[in-house]
Amino acid sequence: MDIKQIYLDASAMLEGHYKLSSGNHSAYYLQSAKVLEQPRTAKILADALAVNIQESGIEIDTVCAPALGGLIAGFALATALDKRSIFAERVNGEMQIRRGFEITEGERVLICEDIITTGGSAMEAAKAIEALGGIVVGFAALANRGFCKREGSALERKVNCALPSDKPLFALADFDFEMYAPDNCPLCADGSEAIKPGSRGN
Ligand code: ZN
Repeated sequence: MDIKQIYLDASAMLEGHYKLSSGNHSAYYLQSAKVLEQPRTAKILADALAVNIQESGIEIDTVCAPALGGLIAGFALATALDKRSIFAERVNGEMQIRRGFEITEGERVLICEDIITTGGSAMEAAKAIEALGGIVVGFAALANRGFCKREGSALERKVNCALPSDKPLFALADFDFEMYAPDNCPLCADGSEAIKPGSRGN
């Protein structure tokens, strides 16, 4: 399965000159909501990810997604795994488990994002689960931005990966794009201006 092509076909991987939330510039911008707007595509991706997870032999009771970004991927993956699906949400800056979702002592939880960048939100969701007595057994995402180490990939973990190195990260692909500091960006040097897609309401 060519995950990059699926993203391109769904206009979920934009090519141009973008300013990322980190402040760095990139020739690519990922808009994962776009790849998940077709439930059929979401199902194909989640089914493939579920196979990776099942083949690892890891035991899971529940999939928990950090809202908002992980919601659809988390639900699709939980459906594919036939497991319970819950989510964590940020309230006053703090990731919490609300909505009456309960975690039993020792419940085995997989945290699912759409894309793992440094894994910051996923780790916040993991801490919320652990605070309630759950055990975080691993992390999952449709794609790994290249900072963390994905199961089965030769790409090494970078220093800014927030995920624990002793727990697996399952993802379908590495999207390891070059990023540039604004004062060292070849796209800027060519005279174009970086745009931030999210800042225009999309
Ligand atoms: Zn630039």
